[in-house]
Amino acid sequence: MIKNTQPFSQQLLNIAELFYSIQGESTYAGLPCVFIRLAGCNLRCHYCDARYTYEEAHATMALDVILSFVDGYPGAIVEITGGEPLFQENVFPLMAELVARKRTVLLETNGSLPIDAVAPEVIVVMDIKTPDSGSADSLANGNIAAARARNKNIPGSCEIKFVLTGRDDYTWARDLVNQHALNASGPTLFSPVKGQLSPADLAAWILQDQLAVRLQLQLHTLIWPHLSRGI
Ligand code: SF4
Repeated sequence: MIKNTQPFSQQLLNIAELFYSIQGESTYAGLPCVFIRLAGCNLRCHYCDARYTYEEAHATMALDVILSFVDGYPGAIVEITGGEPLFQENVFPLMAELVARKRTVLLETNGSLPIDAVAPEVIVVMDIKTPDSGSADSLANGNIAAARARNKNIPGSCEIKFVLTGRDDYTWARDLVNQHALNASGPTLFSPVKGQLSPADLAAWILQDQLAVRLQLQLHTLIWPHLSRGI
């Protein structure tokens, strides 16, 4: 990788939106959170609810401008999301600076790019894309092992998320969890696609299989069902 020699303040990121809201996913759901949503994604999932991150114009911001926004909410956790945040190299100095400032940082990634260079202090929430996502087989080689290593080093520092559209997706995810004992290594989240899989059906399947995973509903969509951005 080419070393980035620009002064910190001049390093740039393409940003879809910055906002302050309630964290709606992961084991951190319910906490006040500053969101840094980066523009651009290398995948095109059928159910994507953030198409504007790669279909619409974005802002380009210097890292110190982004940090000034985060500084306005000193008690909040910070989530870097997308799009796909690891698609932009300058996300690494941003994460390093947030960690240096003792912020709790979550990185939400689609799993298609290696997570092994992400600082151990960052909590990675990594998707494993299912067959019905339209992005199957996108998981980067080594990311399951990297997730396990992160959780061994700092327990709970890598959460794995499956977004499910129906029974076939559920069965596929269940079998993968069991095959790799994913839920023994760290938090494992099963999330239904809104309007495609009923939470009650997913709950019934998890209970029937006695599968030790966490059923996750997108809390922000329950609080603000009429909004699609800034939540
Ligand atoms: S990885 Fe996320 S942002 Fe990218 S297309 Fe899939 S759902 Fe959308």
